[in-house]
Formats: sequence, structure tokens, C-alpha cells
Amino acid sequence: MERSCERAVELGLPAIAFTEHADFVKVHAEQHSVDVAGYLDCVDRCRARFPGLRIVSGVELGEPHWFPAETAAVLAAGPLDNVLGSVHCVKVGGELVDASQFNKREGLDVAAATRSYFDEMLTMLEAGLRFEVLAHLDYPKRYWPGYKERDYEEEIRAVLKAAVRTGRVLEVNTTRGDVLCPDLSVVRWWRELGGQAVQYGSDAHSPDKVAEGFQVAAQMVESAGFKPARDPVSVWRR
Ligand SMILES: [Zn+2]
Repeated sequence: MERSCERAVELGLPAIAFTEHADFVKVHAEQHSVDVAGYLDCVDRCRARFPGLRIVSGVELGEPHWFPAETAAVLAAGPLDNVLGSVHCVKVGGELVDASQFNKREGLDVAAATRSYFDEMLTMLEAGLRFEVLAHLDYPKRYWPGYKERDYEEEIRAVLKAAVRTGRVLEVNTTRGDVLCPDLSVVRWWRELGGQAVQYGSDAHSPDKVAEGFQVAAQMVESAGFKPARDPVSVWRR
């Protein structure tokens, strides 16, 4: 985290947010829930060392609707400024599969799995949970070159409508500079359906990727009809 702050200062960023993962499903060995106290200690250390940088705390809740008790415990463990909700996994034939693996599973119907991904996201949005931001709406696209937004327009619009109804902010995730997730077509649908606000995430996971792809993302979001915020840590609004 300190190296990411150094990188942010080097880039001239006014602020950085660490939305640490809180994952409770066990599909990869490297997925763990966040140690909130240890995490907030790191945030404090960074704030002391980089007084000119605004450091925003946060968490990315993975499948929080499957783990309401664990999720409530994470949120109660300390003050978290920015709370994201996300889906990474779906149940396929009784087994949990991360969307990054859809393409690698022999015999898996990727299109059907992607539809269940959006269904799962809809359920998460409507579960009455405390999170403000919908993270990487079309995460499966990162791993599937055949993905086209228009093939899932109906499902995506249903997700966006639920996000509007529940007052959520849409995250535009740049996938460390590789893939805009979601892209222009979806951000336009978001605006058309009444979406009020957008925020950015580079999903960096490493200091060298902090804010990667933000310039392209900002141009895209602006062209979809959202305006830059005066305060650099605020969401962009229509
Ligand atoms: Zn994620």
C-alpha cells in the first residue's frame, strides 16, 4: 500500500482508494477475507507517511448476498469510506466457478454462465445490503474475447435498472489499463436508464498499475454524458 501511495504521488494524483477484497468463497487459494483492523493500520500508516495525499479506505465485498453475517462483521469492524459490491463466481451445476475460468472449463456453456452471472448480480443488488458502488459490472468480459455487450443487453439493462432503483454508483473499472469494464455502450445505457453517478477503479492489485487507463476511461465517461467532479474524490454526475 505504501508503494501504491508513492506511485500515486509520482503520478500527481490527489487521492487514492484501497478497496481491499472481502471474499468469502473458497475457489482460489489466494482469496481471503480482509483483516479490517490490520488493513486500517496500514491505511493510518500511509496517511501519516503521505500527508499530501488523500487516502480513502474501502472494501470490495464479493458475493455479499451469500454471506450476510460475514459481510456485516466486515462492515462493523471499522470505518470504511467506499464500499463496493461485486460478483466473481456463479454456481454451475452445483459447483462454484469464477468467471475468469468460464472459458477454461471444458463443456461449459459460457453464454449461459455469463447470463447467470448477471442474474447473480441482480440478486445481489436487490438483497438490501449496505454497499454503494457496483464493481466491474461485466467482469466475465475480461477473460472472454467473444464477449459482446449487445448479446447481454437485456440482462445488463436489468442489472442497471436495479442499480438505479437502489441508488448505486456505477464503477468504471479499467482492469489495470487492459479492459474498460463496462465500456461506452453500457455507460450510455446507465445514463439513459437514470443512473446518476460513476466512479473509477483501476483494480491495480500492484503499485505500477495504479490509475492505469484512467485517461481513456474519463474520456469515455464524459462522452457518455457525465461531468467531472470538482472534488477529486467525488463521483462524476450527469
Ligand atoms: Zn473484483
